[in-house]
Amino acid sequence: MEGNTIKKFIALILSAIMAAALCGCENAQNGENYFGGKGEFSDNDGVLRDDKYIYFGGNLLKKFNTETGTLSIACEIPGCDHNENNPNCKAHGKYFLFNGKLMKKVDEIISNPGGKSETISYLYLCDTGKQVFKNDYPDSFTDEEKKTGSLSIGIIKPLSEDNLALVCSRFMYILDKDFNIKFTISDMGSYSGGIYFYDNEIYYIDKLYRLLKLDETGKATAVNPGSMKITEGEIYGDKLWISNEDQTLCSYDFKSGEIKEHAKNAVKFTFAGHYLEYLKPNYSENENPEVHLFDLDTGENKIWELAGDNTVNLYFIGEKYYIYDGFKDNKLLELSADLSEIQNVYELSD
Ligand SMILES: [Zn+2]
Repeated sequence: MEGNTIKKFIALILSAIMAAALCGCENAQNGENYFGGKGEFSDNDGVLRDDKYIYFGGNLLKKFNTETGTLSIACEIPGCDHNENNPNCKAHGKYFLFNGKLMKKVDEIISNPGGKSETISYLYLCDTGKQVFKNDYPDSFTDEEKKTGSLSIGIIKPLSEDNLALVCSRFMYILDKDFNIKFTISDMGSYSGGIYFYDNEIYYIDKLYRLLKLDETGKATAVNPGSMKITEGEIYGDKLWISNEDQTLCSYDFKSGEIKEHAKNAVKFTFAGHYLEYLKPNYSENENPEVHLFDLDTGENKIWELAGDNTVNLYFIGEKYYIYDGFKDNKLLELSADLSEIQNVYELSD
């Protein structure tokens, strides 16, 4: 090839690589899936996995090879800096599974006339790279609400095959399987993750901290638990496990309507497997808070010595419990079944 032709050829290949990297959704080769793993993706308690890797982590996705014990950034683009602010890094963005499809949320920061920058969230299908949703304000929002609002999607919660919840600041959308807006909920708090699916019904916590149930027309009605104000919670079994305005850990039984108190001073919940991890602040003594483990099956409640005095990212993946410390030293710690001991430590490799 002549010099010019070679240059053009290289430019063409580079632009193809760039396009693939920008969309971050190139088709996988050699029978490997999107992240170079094996088999189909599945959702395990909110954690992605396939036959080779488990995937987890905050702003940058990590992958953990369960056979070799290798922990790495979920991006194999050559020369990538894996910076969490680099939109071309494959590990950048929030990945999730909806209706069996691997999807990605990407945030774009744009500068509006007048200098105010704004974050807009988009949803993509990973196998085709197709953009299927661009976030916008609900029609009912006033100009004032739009001016002070945000178009970033804070929490994504796939509720069922035909219900994908997108939690934004003071509003929420429920999308159907074709990514059309099915319900708009505009009486939410700011990025409240209080959206639940139980027995084919959608429930959510509104800005007055009440539990509401949506009917199929999108009309919401308040449900018991009494006059209790719910600040956080999650479903386990037939119960909604909540903290209320008095920071009391309670359970609300969907079937019987019964409300039970389990512990005082319980905030900052993390649910994993059959454990609820929470923080017990010690306001009067001004001492460090205690991290507690509450067994959702047995009701056993104990101080979790291993965690120290701050809540940790606890995961339950493939019948095992893990802690991931993404802030200090990027280590994945595999725990014993009762969470009292560290059994294995895996370090992040390049
Ligand atoms: Zn990367």
